[in-house]
Amino acid sequence: MEELVQISLSGGEDSPPAFQWDDWYASVGGRSIHVPEVDALRERIQNEQYPRFDGPVASTRHEFSSPSEAAAAIKEKAAEFGADIVGVCEIEPSDIYRGKVVTEKFAIAVGQRMKWKEFQVVPSRESAIECMRIYHSLGETVVRLAEYIRSLGHPCKVEHPIGDSNILHLPIGLKAGFGELGRHGSIIHPKLGPLFRMGSVITNLEMAIDHPIDAGIAKFCDNCRACRIYCPADAIPDERDPNGGKDHIGYDRYVVDTGKCFPYFAKYNYCSICLPVCVYNHKEWAKDFEGTETKLFPEVRMLPAPEPVDLNREKRHYYNKVKR
Ligand code: SF4
Ligand code: SF4
Repeated sequence: MEELVQISLSGGEDSPPAFQWDDWYASVGGRSIHVPEVDALRERIQNEQYPRFDGPVASTRHEFSSPSEAAAAIKEKAAEFGADIVGVCEIEPSDIYRGKVVTEKFAIAVGQRMKWKEFQVVPSRESAIECMRIYHSLGETVVRLAEYIRSLGHPCKVEHPIGDSNILHLPIGLKAGFGELGRHGSIIHPKLGPLFRMGSVITNLEMAIDHPIDAGIAKFCDNCRACRIYCPADAIPDERDPNGGKDHIGYDRYVVDTGKCFPYFAKYNYCSICLPVCVYNHKEWAKDFEGTETKLFPEVRMLPAPEPVDLNREKRHYYNKVKR
């Protein structure tokens, strides 16, 4: 059996801290969204999936004939477990949250499509349930993929889509070829658009890696402002920020004002307006997938935006303050 070289990567001062959900909710007076279906799904994620993030590794290791064969086998299995898109990339320190340590070389990025028909009215009870349903469904996919990899004798860990993870899903998804970073701060996939979520499994199993893509999507955002116009909290910027870091193509990033977005998100069913209004949604495909008649554009509820909030700089992700 090939001897493994133990690696150790850590997120440095340039990395953002992991998202401080409790502190953010405390800043707006606590959780105020109470949808029984959402609460039940969140409980199932915590009770049924969290305990399976780690697990026993088979004592006999299956060796693949090549990294390409390993990547193909893992991708096929991920699709069998429910993945719509899968990609592999190498983890770098800039992909790791500040202060977290990762001993795995590869991330297997897994994406699952959200149901367009649940975003016909945003924000809404239906869209809130869909936001949590996808975290549960995708969580099950990455947990099962991790269990499969361990059954082949290769250790690995789950990086759940709901957070509390070690790695940043966005740069991992971009490097794994999932799409380009949109003005609204989410990845836009050329076929799925922005209505998908991602999680990962990290491992030292040697696999062939994928590469970032440039399909002209990020460039298109420079001439489109749909998400900017419909954001009720005024949190999406007009311009790219030269101090906001670069995306995978090398463009300055658009930096969303989290201090404006979060209060709206937390008060009104996880908002989500910027995703279904994005012009990169292929709604006719979504209709075909589901067999359900849908509108071509959602009904957007532009409700009064609460006051912005800010965490201190050590705790918050980097963000610009837009039009404060
Ligand atoms: S989730 Fe809502 S408030 Fe936040 S950026 Fe998107 S549209 Fe704006
Ligand atoms: S709505 Fe337009 S500007 Fe916003 S992310 Fe989508 S394509 Fe880019």
